[in-house]
Amino acid sequence: MPKKELEVSLISVPDNMLDVIYTACRTCYSPDGAVEIFKNITDSKEKKLNLIKRVISSGHYSTIEHIQLTFAINNISRAATHQLVRHRHMSFSQKSQRYVKEKGEFDYIVPLAIEKKQQLFEKFKKHMELTSLLYNEMLESGIKGEDARSILPNAAVSSIVASLNLRELIHLANLRLCTRAQLEIRTVVKKMCELVLEREDWLREHLVPKCERLGYCDEDNSCGKVKPKNG
Ligand SMILES: Cc1cc2nc3c(=O)[nH]c(=O)nc-3n(C[C@H](O)[C@H](O)[C@H](O)COP(=O)(O)OP(=O)(O)OC[C@H]3O[C@@H](n4cnc5c(N)ncnc54)[C@H](O)[C@@H]3O)c2cc1C
Repeated sequence: MPKKELEVSLISVPDNMLDVIYTACRTCYSPDGAVEIFKNITDSKEKKLNLIKRVISSGHYSTIEHIQLTFAINNISRAATHQLVRHRHMSFSQKSQRYVKEKGEFDYIVPLAIEKKQQLFEKFKKHMELTSLLYNEMLESGIKGEDARSILPNAAVSSIVASLNLRELIHLANLRLCTRAQLEIRTVVKKMCELVLEREDWLREHLVPKCERLGYCDEDNSCGKVKPKNG
């Protein structure tokens, strides 16, 4: 059945994100030990942010690698999870198509561009129905889920737990919020960023498409929002 409602939940995030990054930053430049620095933080949020922003803008990214975030994601297509798992500094646990057999008609994500074209959408749904029938026929004949899944489409719904550090989230956002990225992965990453920004608004300038950080577009096929690299 077509599934629409992408669900993204931020299931783990440190409450003291600023203090952890601040400790990491100050440890690099202070005669005091890291333990004392952390235990004796009395500085204002403004002062912490001032140092943190300076350190990040000078490219000292190890300081934000200490922040680990975990997201639970439902109703995402295998096409989108395949794009997500290309990010090598992330950790994943994904619903198995070997162990979890789809009962009846499997759920799938319909790309908006297809949904908008009524006739093609009807054909798309028919194709899914037929795929589902064959998939179930194979399971009933004793073929294992791990083999029957080979006919399931990229559109098949999945569920995934994804963890990453803050440096990688910024990198992910810079790449996947770009309009050159596919709409579904862009929507997933946008939701991930929004959940983090609800708690940590100061990250707003970092969780943006790469063109907003670079000031130009380095894509061959630019959307035209900002000037091209050699323009
Ligand atoms: C719009 C778009 C289109 C794409 N199209 C295609 C496509 O057609 N085909 C395709 O195969 N992929 C495609 N990709 C995926 C892309 O090639 C990357 O695999 C993916 O974006 C992960 O990016 P990354 O390697 O920078 O990031 P991550 O894997 O998240 O790594 C982050 C950073 O760590 C460093 N790093 C990680 N691993 C290594 C390593 N082994 N050696 C050196 N440095 C490393 C790099 O600096 C890297 O940028 C596309 C991605 C986007 C955003």
